[in-house]
Amino acid sequence: SSARLDGLGTTIFAEMSALALRTGAINLGQGFPDTDGPAAVIDVAARTVRDGGHHQYAPGPGIPPLREAIAEHQRRWYDLELDPDHEIVVTTGATEAIAAALLGLVDPGDEVIALEPYYDSYAAMIQMAGGTRVPVTLRTPDFRLPIDELRAAVTDRTAVILLNTPHNPTGAVLRREELEAIAQLAREHDLVVISDEVYEHLTFDAPHIPIATLPGMRERTVTISSIGKSFSLTGWKIGWASGPEDLVRSVMGVKQFLSYTSGAPLQPAAALALGQDARYFEELRAQLRHQRDQLCEGLASVGFDVYVPEGTYFTTTDVRPLGFADGVDFCRRLPELAGVVAVPHEVFYDDKEAGRPLVRWAFCKRPEVLGEAVDRLRRLA
Ligand code: PMP
Ligand code: GLN
Repeated sequence: SSARLDGLGTTIFAEMSALALRTGAINLGQGFPDTDGPAAVIDVAARTVRDGGHHQYAPGPGIPPLREAIAEHQRRWYDLELDPDHEIVVTTGATEAIAAALLGLVDPGDEVIALEPYYDSYAAMIQMAGGTRVPVTLRTPDFRLPIDELRAAVTDRTAVILLNTPHNPTGAVLRREELEAIAQLAREHDLVVISDEVYEHLTFDAPHIPIATLPGMRERTVTISSIGKSFSLTGWKIGWASGPEDLVRSVMGVKQFLSYTSGAPLQPAAALALGQDARYFEELRAQLRHQRDQLCEGLASVGFDVYVPEGTYFTTTDVRPLGFADGVDFCRRLPELAGVVAVPHEVFYDDKEAGRPLVRWAFCKRPEVLGEAVDRLRRLA
């Protein structure tokens, strides 16, 4: 392997889902829902595949109706105006958008500030871009942004602040004051912000605010999202990056050589998904809120310390009250001890100490599955 892969190993999601399959455990590890997205959207995808017309390469940046639907989505929810021809690129999931943005905007030696714990592809792609990651740690109990630590992390080599809100794995949703502090630093030091907003519609206690809506930020922010979480279609891998033309051109510059173009037959249905009515989003949120409360109450009743998330479909617990010291060890033994799979936070940190006792649980599962998982976890008590 090339040095680019040094230390990266196998992604925790693959490891934990394989463990669940092997042991027959309930998989609350990898985040994917066990009910599929809107039937009307799936019907359009099926019809598009059957009727043809989208079986050959789509235009590199995505089919125009999908780029228009993304622009319309940003206008409708956030009052952000985007030119679908120059300011939007469709990607193979948010994952490719993250990779292309980092490869297209980070030079070797540049520093990239990221909020840890962070989604595992960030560390991998910063490394592959030749950048240096500079973590700013969100800590228990509330995972708020330590603004002074963020300010102290900026140096004359800082090129990018990589954000994620709502935040995986902590479930924190960045508040307006936190975003303003980040924006002020970005303006002062002329930094680019890459903002991963894949959980934009999964908020329960705080509104999602795209940092691109703050003064002076539209021109320096690449906003990334995808249909995976918002429409329970994680396997489709249709995502996008949007922002000012110069930054989006850099993302496109890389994307064209990574994949050239993404999933043509799914793009018309993705456009339809983005236009779902307000009721769809309210119901998704209400259902997930219910599942969040069910799992959080269940985990608390088993004896964990539970950090109730404001957004995403993940909740975090501290495993120490149950007599375990280490989340990695806990998660490796959990299938055998209780027939459940979860994900240790530690793998998302540079500061391993901060993540050691924490474990992430996905609640995007049917209530009966969550109920069964909690019943099994009672074996730990
Ligand atoms: N960013 C975050 C924070 C995520 O949790 C995920 C979900 N796997 C992704 C990006 C990737 O999204 P996609 O499946 O659209 O590539
Ligand atoms: N985003 C999901 C999670 O955090 C799935 C990630 C993946 O499989 N790469 O669990």
